[in-house]
Amino acid sequence: MNALEEMIRRRIVQDGPMSVSEFMALALGHPQHGYYMKQDPFGTGGDFTTAPEISQMFGEMIGAWIADAWMKCGSPERFILLECGPGRGTLMADILRAAKGAPGFHDAADVHLMETSPVLREKQKETLSGHAALWHETLDSVPDDAPLFVIGNEFFDALPVQQFVYQSGRWYERRIGLESDALSFVACDAPAPEMAGLPAPQDGDIYEHSPLSRSIMNALSGRIARHGGAMLFIDYGYDHDAYGDTLQAVKAHQFAPVLDDIGDCDLTVHVDFAALQRAASDAGLSCYGPVGQGDFLRALGIDVRAHMLQQKASEAQQKGIQDALERLTSHDAMGQLFRVFAACGSGVSLEGFA
Ligand code: SAH
Repeated sequence: MNALEEMIRRRIVQDGPMSVSEFMALALGHPQHGYYMKQDPFGTGGDFTTAPEISQMFGEMIGAWIADAWMKCGSPERFILLECGPGRGTLMADILRAAKGAPGFHDAADVHLMETSPVLREKQKETLSGHAALWHETLDSVPDDAPLFVIGNEFFDALPVQQFVYQSGRWYERRIGLESDALSFVACDAPAPEMAGLPAPQDGDIYEHSPLSRSIMNALSGRIARHGGAMLFIDYGYDHDAYGDTLQAVKAHQFAPVLDDIGDCDLTVHVDFAALQRAASDAGLSCYGPVGQGDFLRALGIDVRAHMLQQKASEAQQKGIQDALERLTSHDAMGQLFRVFAACGSGVSLEGFA
């Protein structure tokens, strides 16, 4: 048993069963033992590989998308370019390189990164060493006085959710307790949140609710509604309101039991895009998608970009580019499972959602 599990057990003994959201927040974000706080988990030697780490083409397409959105908003001469949960900083580096093609973009962009992990923040500083950028733990310190263009890849899936389970005609909160000295899920009396747009529940249905995702989405949407700009979020998740337990643990590219090796596995949930969309449209934004990542990247011209890169490449590199293209876009890889959602102030029409 590791130190974080011991701490969680002590808390449960003291205070009773722990909500799934508190468990996730500790497993991922505990200052000493949290998964993201102590290591760089990405890549083949790590636990999982994300789209920007697969190929530069991903960030280049997004860079072109942001530059286009910025121009459609009238090329404001100063704007906030914010990335949420930037990992190794690869996506932002590729975006900034690709956006050099848009005259004035670099001079106008104030680059901000919202990141809780000190280890990853250091990594991002290395990756972005040629650029002026500022780091933030939360949105509160990010300036709120200019148009906001915000992106996030696999950001919302790392934010804690509460779970509720429907049993014998009513909702209980699903928490983590101790049964015969083992950590296990238990149903507890607790008020359930409002559930919009869902069918009548059946016994055993689980509802996930992420107060942190909601509040971040509300805040970002409010800023874009006031100052202009756009947002783009890519993640795996579901487009319509649905029930289900989506909490999963991954270690060394394999699924792992959620309650084992706490703080040493990545924990994620599927993103509730319907909830994100509601927050954006409640703030008055126009919403786009979710569409599959494959369709989005193809609409932005990733096939042409791959072809261009292949022309200057060795045979082995050409194959690498082709493999990366397949992984990012094909239906049996990331192309369909990963969803792209965007929103912007009214009167602007965003690319990639044909
Ligand atoms: N976007 C990157 C990393 C995805 S992993 C990529 O695609 O490779 C999730 C990222 O979100 C990590 O950088 C993690 O440290 C960060 N993160 C997790 N919770 C966060 C929070 N509450 N606020 C800001 N960043 C957070």
